[in-house]
Amino acid sequence: MQVKFLDLQKITAKYADKMHEAVLRVVDSGWYLQGHENERFEENYAKYIGSKHAIGCANGLDALIWIFRAYIEMGVMQPGDEVIVPANTYIATILAITENGLKPVLVEPKLSTYQIDDDLIEQAITPRTKAICIVHLYGQCAYTDKIGELCQKYNLKLVEDNAQAHGCLYKGRKTGSLGDAAGHSFYPGKNLGAFGDAGAVTTDDDELAATVRALANYGSQKKYVFKYTGRNSRLDEIQAAILDVKLANLDEDVALRQEVAKRYCSEITNPKIILPQIADWKAHAFHLFPIRCAERDRLQQYLSENGIQTIIHYPIAPHQQECYKEMNDMSLPITEQIHNEELSLPISPVMTAEEVEYVIETINKFK
Ligand SMILES: *Cc1c(COP(=O)(O)O)cnc(C)c1O
Repeated sequence: MQVKFLDLQKITAKYADKMHEAVLRVVDSGWYLQGHENERFEENYAKYIGSKHAIGCANGLDALIWIFRAYIEMGVMQPGDEVIVPANTYIATILAITENGLKPVLVEPKLSTYQIDDDLIEQAITPRTKAICIVHLYGQCAYTDKIGELCQKYNLKLVEDNAQAHGCLYKGRKTGSLGDAAGHSFYPGKNLGAFGDAGAVTTDDDELAATVRALANYGSQKKYVFKYTGRNSRLDEIQAAILDVKLANLDEDVALRQEVAKRYCSEITNPKIILPQIADWKAHAFHLFPIRCAERDRLQQYLSENGIQTIIHYPIAPHQQECYKEMNDMSLPITEQIHNEELSLPISPVMTAEEVEYVIETINKFK
C-alpha cells in the first residue's frame, strides 16, 4: 500500500463541483482583484475566527510582515525593539520579525507540547520587548492564560502565527482571535488551503486593520494617494472564491483530522515512538501529526520502504540556518532535540481507515 503524506488532489476532488463553479464565476465576472469574492471571504473568515476584521493578502509570511510593519507605522514599535518568539517555529515567523528590523528573542519550547515554554518567557522580557509572537505549531494551541497575563503585566502586543492552526479552539474561542492580531497562511497544504499562495490578517483593532489593508495595497487607502511605502500583496478573487468554498467545510475537515490523530494516539504502541501529548483535543487542529523517535532517520527510511510518505518539520532549526549567522552560536537544546527527532506522519481529512490502519501497523512493527 502507498500512503501519501498529503493527497491534495483527493482533497480538492471532494469539492470539485463547487470549485469549478467558483472559478468559472470569477472568470466570467471580468473582475479579478479587490472585488466581491474578497469581500465575502474576508467577512466569512472574520466571522469564523471571531474577530472584527479579516484582511486578505498574498501569503502567510506577508500577513505576519504586515502586522509588525503596521505596529511600526502606528508608533507602537520601533526598529530594534524585541519580539519574543518560539525557537522551534517555521522560519517565516522569524523572517517577519527581522524583515521589519525588529529583533527576534528565541525562547525554547516545552518538549511535551512543542509549544513555547511559558515558564521561560518572563525572564526573556527586557525594556525593549514590545510583543510576544506565539505560533500554534503543528496546529496545537500555544496560548496559555499565563501568556495573556504577561502581555497585560508588561504591556506587550500578542501576535499569533495561526498559519498551521485553522480550526483550533482555546476554551471555545478560535486561535487567531486570542491576541491583538494574527497572521494566517492559506498555502495549499495548510488546513485551509488555496490553489496557490494566499494569506490573511485578523484583528479587532480598527487602526491596525486599516494600516495592514493599506500596506498590502501599495500603502494606499485612496487610489493614487500613498500614505506608506507598501507593496503589492493582495489576495486575488479566484483564491478568495476557492477559500470561501473550503471554509464552509473547515470544521468538518478538522474533525476528520482529529479522528485520524485519535487512532494514532491510541493504537501506536511501539515504545520507540513518542506520541504528541494531547491535553485538550479541541485545542489541536492537527495540521500535522508530529511524533518523535531517537532513530528518526532510520524510521523515515523504513516507512518510505513500506510506501509511507513522511516529512520532517523541520530538519534545521532557525538559529542554525545560514541566513541567521548571528544566531548560529546559540545553544537551544530542546529545539535542537525536536529538530533531530521529529517526524510528521500522514494526516488529512481524506485518509481512509485502511490507510490509517496500515500506518499504525507498519510503525508498530518497526524494530
Ligand atoms: C506556512 C507558514 C507560514 C507562512 O505562510 P506562507 O503562506 O507559506 O507564506 C508562517 N508560519 C508558519 C508557522 C507556517 O507554517
